[in-house]
Amino acid sequence: RIGACHCHPCFTGPRCAELATNCILNLSIGDPTIFESYWLTLGSQATTVIPAWQGMSYFAHKHNAFLFVDHHLELTIRELHTLVGNAVTQDRYVLLGVGSTQLFQAAIYALAANLPENSTPTTSDPIKIVSAVPFYSAYAEAVDYQKSAKYKWAGDATKFQQVAAAGGGGGGRNHDRAASFIEVVTSPSNPEGSNCQAVLHHREGGAAGGGPQQGPSSSTSSTIHDLAYYWPQYTPITAPADNPLMLFTFSKITGHAGTRLGWAIVEDKRIAMKMFEYIRVNTLGVSQDAQRRAFTLIRTIIDGYKKQEQEIKQQVNHHGEEKEEEEEDHLRHDCSSTQIGSVNAERIGFVDIERIPTGSSDAPPRMPFFHYIQALLEERWRRIVSVLEGNSLFTLPVYDEAFCTFLGKAFRPNPAFLWLECTNGQDCGELLLKYGIATREGPSFGVSSAFVRLSLLDRDPLFDLLLQRLASIR
Ligand code: PMP
Repeated sequence: RIGACHCHPCFTGPRCAELATNCILNLSIGDPTIFESYWLTLGSQATTVIPAWQGMSYFAHKHNAFLFVDHHLELTIRELHTLVGNAVTQDRYVLLGVGSTQLFQAAIYALAANLPENSTPTTSDPIKIVSAVPFYSAYAEAVDYQKSAKYKWAGDATKFQQVAAAGGGGGGRNHDRAASFIEVVTSPSNPEGSNCQAVLHHREGGAAGGGPQQGPSSSTSSTIHDLAYYWPQYTPITAPADNPLMLFTFSKITGHAGTRLGWAIVEDKRIAMKMFEYIRVNTLGVSQDAQRRAFTLIRTIIDGYKKQEQEIKQQVNHHGEEKEEEEEDHLRHDCSSTQIGSVNAERIGFVDIERIPTGSSDAPPRMPFFHYIQALLEERWRRIVSVLEGNSLFTLPVYDEAFCTFLGKAFRPNPAFLWLECTNGQDCGELLLKYGIATREGPSFGVSSAFVRLSLLDRDPLFDLLLQRLASIR
């Protein structure tokens, strides 16, 4: 056994089974541990074994344009997008990064380098990196951290709509001004959960973001589409996204944030090569071990669908009944045989850093991956809404139902985060902290402190505790 088990700060007692009084429930980070319950049931099916002699070279594939990208993983990523129908990959380059965090930085580096000659930024007028509010807080941090002379974080994209429009329209007199923006579109939005579109650089005739993108492709477009949450567990998939530079992260697909793997789907070879240059200089590649693990996990998901193709159609119709049975599944988790999940209420408080899942389960999930996680999140949202409904202290975002081409049913988005607004402009972070809930506050996302973001991706016991605490706020 490697490492030790530690009680989460909100649980105590010899078996970490009792609720600790006065603990702070920290939901400020979207740590995707909710996914554990799925992988625990799969056992050795999804385990990666790497022989000592394998993956030793810096290079994964000597005949690939991107030497660090494992060819089999690349094919599997393309296959996954085709299966889910959430992104166009044909005639696009697939590039890997150490999380999409690295790819975001690589994308900015590449897009900034690709600006037309006449718009070369100066120290006094650097390229502005913008995103419509509320924007994902890490963008500002990542850009500011670099202290680049070439670009800087400029906040809310909507503030620049007029100036960008004045220079837009395909090379008018002010073309250079329009080109001096790089817009990041997060769709579905982190923190808010809705599907979003670019507000500055529109391609003709197309919607940006999670939805379909039609119209001519523009290799000079300076928009980064961060589609971390454009997966069926979070939102209905309505059409394959077709944007020139799309980012995805393994962290929010399978929940393996610790593997630190993300990918970019890039239309323009020059941009892709520039991004590759950044990754080469920055980390000299992406872990081959991580790639191998990602390969196994994605293959497991795809193969699960292949095997159960027929069953899925029936399960969609009987989803409601199945959910109850799912909750009784044995979700085993080894930390000296500790179980987590809703089954063993006595032991649920265990949260440790160095866990070793046993991988065995009496009852493998009856639903394949996306169906299972979507059902879990849908149930969480149902419970959140029922707890907060009628509480005049809070306003929740409203999401429209849409038909998901992958799951074959209509549903409302089930975002990874709860985006709460406190009424009367009250400082929402302060209010929730009084009730023992730590959040990420509005100003990090470019809006007022009346807003907060809470992760809904934590393990069951912590989600239950969140509900308890929210219910007590009156
Ligand atoms: N983009 C968005 C919108 C995210 O929410 C996250 C993770 N919170 C990331 C990117 C970063 O993902 P990764 O773990 O791959 O660095």
